[in-house]
Amino acid sequence: MIGEDLNNNIADPNKLTSLISHDIKERLQQEPGKIWKILLLILGILIVIAGVVFGIYLLKKDSDSEEAKSKLNFTTWAEAHEKAKEKVKEFTTEEKLSLLFGTQNMVRKSEDTDCVGAIDPIKDKFGGICLQDGPAGVRFSTGTQSWQASINTAATFNKTLMYEVGKAQGKEFRNKGINVALGPAMNIQRNPQGGRIWECYGDDPFLSGVAATQIIKGIQSNGVIACAKHYVGNDQETNRKNSSSNIKEQALWEIYIEPFYRSVKDAEVGAIMTAYNSINGTYCVNNSKIVNDYLKKRIGYQGYVMTDWWEVMSDSPDNFNNGVDMNMPGGIDEGAKWVGRNMSHWSYFNNYLGKEISYERLDDAVERILAPMYKLDQFNSDVKYPEVDLLKNTITNETKKLNREAAAQSNVLLKNEDHILPLVNMTGKTIAIIGNDAFESPCIRESDCSCKMYANQIYRGHLGLGYGSGTTYFKYLINPLSAINSRAEKENINIISSGEITQVSETLDERNVYVGKEDIEKAKEVAKQADLCIVFISADSGEQYIELEKSVGDRYDLEAWHQGNDLVNAVLEVNQNVIVVINAPGPINLPWLEKVKGLIFSGFGGAESGNGLTDILFGDYNPSGHLPYVWAELDNYPSKISLFSNPINYDYTEGVFVGQRYFDKTNKPYTFPFGYGLSYTTFEFEQNSLSASMSKEGLKIIFSVKNIGDLEGETVPMVFLKFPDNIRTEEGYPNKLFKGFDKKLVKPNESVKFEILVDDHALSYYNIYEDKGKFVRPIEGKYTVYVGFNAKDYNLLQTEVDAKY
Ligand code: BGC
Repeated sequence: MIGEDLNNNIADPNKLTSLISHDIKERLQQEPGKIWKILLLILGILIVIAGVVFGIYLLKKDSDSEEAKSKLNFTTWAEAHEKAKEKVKEFTTEEKLSLLFGTQNMVRKSEDTDCVGAIDPIKDKFGGICLQDGPAGVRFSTGTQSWQASINTAATFNKTLMYEVGKAQGKEFRNKGINVALGPAMNIQRNPQGGRIWECYGDDPFLSGVAATQIIKGIQSNGVIACAKHYVGNDQETNRKNSSSNIKEQALWEIYIEPFYRSVKDAEVGAIMTAYNSINGTYCVNNSKIVNDYLKKRIGYQGYVMTDWWEVMSDSPDNFNNGVDMNMPGGIDEGAKWVGRNMSHWSYFNNYLGKEISYERLDDAVERILAPMYKLDQFNSDVKYPEVDLLKNTITNETKKLNREAAAQSNVLLKNEDHILPLVNMTGKTIAIIGNDAFESPCIRESDCSCKMYANQIYRGHLGLGYGSGTTYFKYLINPLSAINSRAEKENINIISSGEITQVSETLDERNVYVGKEDIEKAKEVAKQADLCIVFISADSGEQYIELEKSVGDRYDLEAWHQGNDLVNAVLEVNQNVIVVINAPGPINLPWLEKVKGLIFSGFGGAESGNGLTDILFGDYNPSGHLPYVWAELDNYPSKISLFSNPINYDYTEGVFVGQRYFDKTNKPYTFPFGYGLSYTTFEFEQNSLSASMSKEGLKIIFSVKNIGDLEGETVPMVFLKFPDNIRTEEGYPNKLFKGFDKKLVKPNESVKFEILVDDHALSYYNIYEDKGKFVRPIEGKYTVYVGFNAKDYNLLQTEVDAKY
């Protein structure tokens, strides 16, 4: 039989060919009518063999790329600079200049697939640089994982997960041939109206620094350069290109520079982007004090500084002399006359060389641009950096799984009266899913979240991310309704909803903008039929160049969009078992808080948003997210952003009293403290378990947490410090500062030990009186150590320790 013979001879292709041809001849002579059947059989067999061979090839290719990665040889800054210095010598002056200016659109495979910034290749000498947004994954790529927003990453309070997310993102950037990932963003949530707060890590500088460090380390572990942005004080979008953030010295360092400081010192970030705004009257892009002096000299940053996009507005050589190394993106759309596609910018710049601009400065900038590429081994000739291909699909089961886990861990359970959650014992019952935000979005089909081209800029459907350069195309977006539906099916729970898309009426409001409206009557009808209702409400924000409904980047106010409050109140009229889920960049007003039984803040969960939420709702994952900011009503924050008054000065009068520190100082009311977040189980600290010991490395704090509930879950104990009384500050000092955390899984009845090191830098404060200002670690007096579960329950354990070491 041909089949048997094939089996026996499959390993030997020569034998196989002769066997097949011999057999064909024989059969042709004996039974010519069967020739087609035989040929088909052979064809089938060949296809199977080809499939097997291709499979082996793919497996090998994958393991090759893993192997390739392990061959990457990262070096120290010193070595990288040595190599870069040598390389600089190979370039002519004009070539050197070409490395400083983007020319845009290096890689145009189609209209949609540009690197947002690019340095052109130099023939036989240099392969070029592709720079691409952003913090939630690869922008403008049709096959990319849409990661959860950075604010959600912060809400996980999970350092390992943060690193893993950075690593997985970095892998996608690398596989698409991108040299520089334009993230993470690490501006401070000074005010919840800030349009880009979801791209950053909240209102606490310590948490922001740790999160940024973990993400950068993860991204750079793939040999991709991360870019810390926007340095510094871009904490609101309104007039970002035409305003000054006026910040006093101690606050500037301790709050706003702090995440950049950690990114440089702890994560050795390769690139930094300046912010559009001024600091104390001088544009960041032209601010020698904050770039040359603070960043490069005092912090010791060794990578390069790039402008934000079309940020250079003057045609003088000042920006360059004041510390900016790379001008992005180039191109002729906006900007000064020396930013052009036709190389005239080089010759223009050339005029200054040897005069206002020294040749040393030129070499220094080129060296800085090359050094991170050497440091992260991008010139490795064995492990070639992939060609730019933004169309490449890099979504895998692993990225889906990790993104789902991150989404689940970032949901913050804010209220759970009568144990309404998790949804257990619901078989045969009916749950109503209400609100436009739960449903499929027509905006997500390989488009960004702004949904600009649809329906007069009204956002419809589930919100996975905010809008602007920090968002991604969505290859897919799991909406809550579909995720809940498939989970509920398993337990025969009946899901009803007010329709896939509720009516969104389009009317001009008093400011002449369109706002969407929920179909409240329909929602009420559905709510009446249900045992329990989950109401989805949302608000959106983003970058200033897009206007969406009421918002030109920054939020106009903290109200839920689309009449979300009316929707919740209407449902409450007919049903008492109401859980509200919020998708928003940050706090919103909760006028119905007392009346609802459950409240989950889901933030912007990215593509796996619906799945992550469903894991929480059904108790498949025990909530462990915590608020990375204090949640209050707008009037109680120290600042307000007016979208319509065109402010040109933002005076940061609160100084170092940002976020929770301000509320502690002023006793202003807030809704939820920094760090707040419930679990389905209960944790408590083991009394007398706290010890604290001081050394040169830092303050080691040891304590234990017990799970006294019935379910296993992750706990996030938090460390707060009160500094010794004798420190010299500009305007007083907060009485507690967030300085440490960890997250661990604890089984019921189990007690788990935590060891947290508050490092040397975290024990220091910025003393403006010493040596023109520097970080100083007190050696006199005592620190008070508090350990708790959030900034309100902060002192469940407490001790004092001598500052001396
Ligand atoms: C944003 C940056 C972004 C750049 C490129 C700017 O408008 O502020 O964050 O990286 O555009 O898209």
